Amino acid sequence: MSREQKAVDRARKAFETGRSKSLEYRIQQLQNLQCLFTERQKEIADAIKKDLNKSEVGAQLYETLGLEGEIGLAIRKLKEWAAPRPVQKNLLTISDTVYIRPEPLGVVLIIGAWNYPWAVTIQPLVGAIAAGNAAVVKPSEVCVHTAKVMEDLLPLYIDKELYPVVNGGVPETQELLRQRFDHIFYTGNCTVGKVIMEAAAKNLTPVTLELGGKSPCYIDKDCDISVACRRITWGKYTNCGQTCIAPDYILCEPSIQNRVIEEVKKAIKDFYTDAPKTCPDYGRIINQRHFKRILAMLEDSAIAVGGDNDESDCFIAPTVLKDVKPEAKVMQDEIFGPLLPILPVSGLDEAIKFINRREKPLALYVFTQDKKVIKRMTEETSSGALLVNDCLVHFSVSSLPFGGVGNSGMGCYHGKFSFDQLSHMRSCLIKQLKMEGMNDMRYPPHTMKKLGWARFFILKPLDLGWMGRMALLAMLVVAAAVALQRFLF
Ligand code: NAD
Repeated sequence: MSREQKAVDRARKAFETGRSKSLEYRIQQLQNLQCLFTERQKEIADAIKKDLNKSEVGAQLYETLGLEGEIGLAIRKLKEWAAPRPVQKNLLTISDTVYIRPEPLGVVLIIGAWNYPWAVTIQPLVGAIAAGNAAVVKPSEVCVHTAKVMEDLLPLYIDKELYPVVNGGVPETQELLRQRFDHIFYTGNCTVGKVIMEAAAKNLTPVTLELGGKSPCYIDKDCDISVACRRITWGKYTNCGQTCIAPDYILCEPSIQNRVIEEVKKAIKDFYTDAPKTCPDYGRIINQRHFKRILAMLEDSAIAVGGDNDESDCFIAPTVLKDVKPEAKVMQDEIFGPLLPILPVSGLDEAIKFINRREKPLALYVFTQDKKVIKRMTEETSSGALLVNDCLVHFSVSSLPFGGVGNSGMGCYHGKFSFDQLSHMRSCLIKQLKMEGMNDMRYPPHTMKKLGWARFFILKPLDLGWMGRMALLAMLVVAAAVALQRFLF
């Protein structure tokens, strides 16, 4: 039996003990996880520094702060989320108890990506624990140091049978994918997303795919370009552009292109000084493979800002490309690096067409003061998220579902959405054995008269007030009595 198979088996056996179903146990596990982030900040930050050259403050700001918030929210809200959810009834079921009961799915496989290795791996785990599941956690092997720290620390804080960590690369992940899970939660690129879905299909396992793609950014000429560029610069160059929701490229009218370039240049200097290479807040490309991939994208476009790089250090300076053509290399795939292409378009119409001709993005950013522009962008495009006059911040709003649409992914999470995503919403209807006469209309022999009653009981909307409900109940009792009399005699 492989190591991966053993871990899944152990997780299933632990799930079958039923201990993860207790709300107290789930809360305890979440509290323990919370402790990991308060007590082990140094180890976490050191590993992220080695993997991605993130500063200690940056690691907290972009990785663990959000996690602490999500864990706290789950602890506070779990009883409410897990409670039966009463639903509206129809006339036929008016005297029944009808509700949705969120239930654990079973064993969840969580496959994380490397760019925010804690955030994208542990956040789904918070949902899995809250929803009462067991979970096998597979951190990205690309963040070597973080994966090791995760493997070492998680078992010290949370139930290591229920939530084992399996480290490894492609062969290990593929071995995991040969096992049977009740849900697979994958974060990463679209190509591997298809591999995951194919493997899941063999067991009809549902999947959540948190993928990427090119997130466009439209700057309207009617806007504060200086503020817009500051926010875009932050969104683009944070984590050296290796953010799934980073603005991938800018669309704007040619008349404002130079102004945009100047303002982005100014913001780069403000944030990362004249020498980003020595600035503690500027990251590095994760490895040489990605370094080479990103540099190759520069080939057929004109550099307006930056462009300098150092392979030995995986450093690529914050870079802006001007007058970029849609056929340019940088426009073929998600950049996932610190290159910001600007594509001139004639205006809003062309920008909308440009966006709609491509795959649906994970995020769409619009910078404008014009309500009509906001309305048209909202109504005439589709994307995982739409932000007006800012970038990235929707990730921090737990009450917004985070996820893609079309090629940018399926399913969503954060806050209660994580809980719901990893729960089975079981439909429950509890009926009394009384009032059998009421059911006469559905039993053979079927007659037009019974059909008439069935139409009334099923189609009549039940949005009555208190008085209406009482009158209806009285009517039902009479109807039941009449039916019962006929049924019995
Ligand atoms: P990665 O290389 O770390 O891969 C992700 C996971 O897939 C890893 O755990 C890896 O072991 C596994 N994997 C890789 N190849 C595999 C294969 N052939 N078979 C089975 N498993 C395999 O990360 P990545 O894909 O380079 O991550 C970057 C991408 O992820 C970008 O496209 C980015 O936009 C996207 N992303 C999306 C989100 C989101 O929330 N939507 C968040 C972060 C990253």
